[in-house]
Amino acid sequence: MQFSSSLLENAVNEFAKLPGIGKKTALRLVLHLLRQDKNEVSHFAEIIAKMRTEIKFCNRCFNVADGDICSICSNSMRKQDVICVVENIRDVIAIESTQQYSGTYHVLGGVISPLDGIGPDQLNIESLLQRVEKEKTEELIFALNPNIQGDTTIYYIQKKLPGSHIRTTTIARGIAFGGELEYADEMTLARSLQNRLPVESYVAGK
Ligand SMILES: [Zn+2]
Repeated sequence: MQFSSSLLENAVNEFAKLPGIGKKTALRLVLHLLRQDKNEVSHFAEIIAKMRTEIKFCNRCFNVADGDICSICSNSMRKQDVICVVENIRDVIAIESTQQYSGTYHVLGGVISPLDGIGPDQLNIESLLQRVEKEKTEELIFALNPNIQGDTTIYYIQKKLPGSHIRTTTIARGIAFGGELEYADEMTLARSLQNRLPVESYVAGK
């Protein structure tokens, strides 16, 4: 791509660093901004910079927050003794979008993956165990991706949990809604069979 302005070129190169944005899309976005009012573009840039410098992580659950504690942890309407354990903030946003969950979260910041050099110490696992003990948590719901790393992480945490009073569950796994059996991998199909539900509850849950 040839540019007659290095300012334009720099902007395109920065946009092209974003995930899923190629050079052509970057150019389209930059040209769009060029057509906007100067104040509006300044506002846009300010919002991005402010988000990066001012955002915090909740001291309790490690979700993003505007203060020391996130809006979910400080909401008394939510079941504070139920914790949904997730890998990252995207998962919190996905579950919140369903509007079906009224407990709290604990963001691990990844999953145990020895091949990638990620062990329990690099994740927010110790803080989860302390939290469970201190807060007398009733239930832990593991909502981790159904793969070997996710399972290893669940197994590790489960073994470290203090006492047996706590209920641990995992989200149901199986064939994606609208998916086809023949395209599901063996692991998925095997889990779907293991986690089979009574037909009544399946129909009722539809
Ligand atoms: Zn929180």
